[in-house]
Amino acid sequence: MSDSAKHVKVLILGAGPAGLSAALYAARAELEPIVLTGMQLGGQAALTHTIENYPGFPEGVGGIQLGELFQKQAERFGAKVEFDLAQAVDFSQRPYKVTADSGEYLADSLILATGANPLHLEIPGEEELTGRGVSYCATCDGWFFKDKKVVIVGGGDSAFEEALFITRYASSVTLIHRREEFRASVLLQKRAKEHPKMNFILNTVVTEVVGKEKLEALKLKDVKTGAESTFETDGLFIFIGHAPNSQMFKSKLEMSELGYVKVNDKMETSVPGVFAAGEIADPTFRQVVTSAGMGAAAAIQATRFLEAEESAHSPA
Ligand code: NAP
Repeated sequence: MSDSAKHVKVLILGAGPAGLSAALYAARAELEPIVLTGMQLGGQAALTHTIENYPGFPEGVGGIQLGELFQKQAERFGAKVEFDLAQAVDFSQRPYKVTADSGEYLADSLILATGANPLHLEIPGEEELTGRGVSYCATCDGWFFKDKKVVIVGGGDSAFEEALFITRYASSVTLIHRREEFRASVLLQKRAKEHPKMNFILNTVVTEVVGKEKLEALKLKDVKTGAESTFETDGLFIFIGHAPNSQMFKSKLEMSELGYVKVNDKMETSVPGVFAAGEIADPTFRQVVTSAGMGAAAAIQATRFLEAEESAHSPA
């Protein structure tokens, strides 16, 4: 054990809605939690321009703004948010060890809230042209496509919400989807279908991203007829779902086939004192409000876990 390791009662990995809500609850239980932010302060919510379905904000709230409010509220009660990235965990003995960029942490309990990352199409040209026309974040990159032609891939809430956001900048937004039915909510579909800048290409997949220095065109394939075509565009935004950020916990915790950390209704993982919350453990709901709820539940349970342990060790 390194002498410089920081010993904490509750260590939280991830600073999205789940991690910061867990921090708020753990801080209010006077457990002085430390949150390691990872790469994305505010989590995926911070990549969303406006969140319209988080209760308490009838006019909607900016994704970055909501993250800042979560953080401020947790810090008010004593949570510490460190801009640090966890690299490895050791659950073989208590306190559990987490090795991060800035050093080691020893934690009596852990709340894993490392979220999820956008899936890629995994087609030729996609990786090479990421940042040169290909993007996974409309809030980050939408502005670069002022008066330009943009394509969105996906048929879920993310694709529709972000497509509508990009209509603020782009001259046209074409949503390409591999089927005829969408998963997106009826309200979002209605708004998009009525928007004058929006077009739809259905039953079609993108098979290649074409361009030298920057994106120039996409190769498309009609999945019903097999017909291939080329579609010129300046931007390609891909919103086809997410994969949980759980690689670090592989073979250390029970997980589903898709890599979601398994939790019971108390947010307990297969390791005592290790809890998980938010999209790392939620393949079903994946909403800001559900992630925040899971974070709060995980912190309440971590508090109970530590209290039970303390009373078991205190003299009768
Ligand atoms: P999603 O609901 O899983 O939708 C992914 C979409 O991408 C689907 O239409 C899917 O097509 C398509 N897709 C997947 N792999 C593909 C591939 N290789 N090539 C082409 N298309 C592909 O993902 P999401 O839109 O990111 O939403 C995730 C969760 O977050 C959902 O529960 C959603 O409700 C929630 N969310 C909510 C809001 C909101 O309420 N405001 C906003 C954003 C996200 P198929 O339909 O054919 O499978």
